[in-house]
Amino acid sequence: MQVVTRFAPSPTGFLHLGHVYAASAAWHAARQAGGRFLLRLEDIDPQRCRAEYAAAALEDLAWLGFVSDAPLRVQSAHLPEYRATLEHLAARALIYPCFCSRADIAREVAAAASAPHTGDTGAPDGSPYPGTCRHLPPAVRAEKLAAGAPHAWRLDMQAALAHVATTGAALRFFEPSEGWIAADPAPFGDVVLGRRDVPASYHLCVTHDDALQGITLVTRAHDLKPATHLHVLLQHLMHWPTPAYAHHALLTGPTGARLSKRDGAVPIRDLRAKGLTADEICRQVIG
Ligand code: GLU
Repeated sequence: MQVVTRFAPSPTGFLHLGHVYAASAAWHAARQAGGRFLLRLEDIDPQRCRAEYAAAALEDLAWLGFVSDAPLRVQSAHLPEYRATLEHLAARALIYPCFCSRADIAREVAAAASAPHTGDTGAPDGSPYPGTCRHLPPAVRAEKLAAGAPHAWRLDMQAALAHVATTGAALRFFEPSEGWIAADPAPFGDVVLGRRDVPASYHLCVTHDDALQGITLVTRAHDLKPATHLHVLLQHLMHWPTPAYAHHALLTGPTGARLSKRDGAVPIRDLRAKGLTADEICRQVIG
C-alpha cells in the first residue's frame, strides 16, 4: 500500500517553526516511503481563520518546498459534504441536536458539580457536556428544529459505543513507535460534531478528509493524541479506514511551552525577510 501523509494547518496565524516541524515530519515520512504528501487547509472556523493567513501559509509552504502531490483541499469549500455526514449519523440516531448555549452548559455543569456524579466526564478537549439535550422528547426536538432554533450536533457517546459493541470490533490504532493502542473515546462524552455556526467540526472534518484523501499515515503533534481515540470511533461509525498515527514531539519555546503565535513564535516570513534560506529554516527544526 502506498504511504500517503498530509500536513493540515489551520490558517489562524502565520506559520512558524512549529509548523515547519510538523510539515517536515509528514513530508519526510512520505518521501522515505516513496509515497505521497498532501496539503489541506482546515479553515472551517469562521471566527479564527482568515483568508490572509491561508494565502500566506500556502506561499510559505511553497517557498519551503513542501508542495502537495494532489490538489489542495480547502475544508470551507466542502461544507455540504460534512453536512451530509452529519445527516447520515443523525439518521442512525448517533448524533442529536443540542440547543444549549455556553451559558446553559456552564450552569448545568456547576449544578452537577454540587450533585452526585451523573456519569458525564470532562472531555479531553475541554468541552464537558452534561447531556441536557440527549433525551429531549422527539416532539420538542422537532418543534425546535422546525422553528429554526440555533443548535449544534452532538455525538451520543453511549449510543455510539453500544453500536461498536454490536459489531464486536476492537477500537484501536497503530502507532509505529508503540504498536497497537486500544482507543478509549468515552472521556470525550457527547462531543460536538456539528457546530452551531457551521455544519462541521474539527473532529468530523479531519476524519472525513483523511478518509477521502486516502491518508494512510497521520503525522501530527503529541497534543492531538487524545483526539485520535475519538477519531478511531468516528472512523468506525462511518466505515472509514483508520490510518496509522505517528504522534511527534511538540516544538517548544524557551519557556518550555508549545510554540505558538500567542507566545511570540517568529513567523517564517520574518525569518525569510531576515535572509534565512528554506534549508536553514528546515535545519533549525530537524537539527
Ligand atoms: N488543523 C490542525 C492544526 O492546525 C491539525 C489537525 C491534524 O493534524 O489532525 O492544529
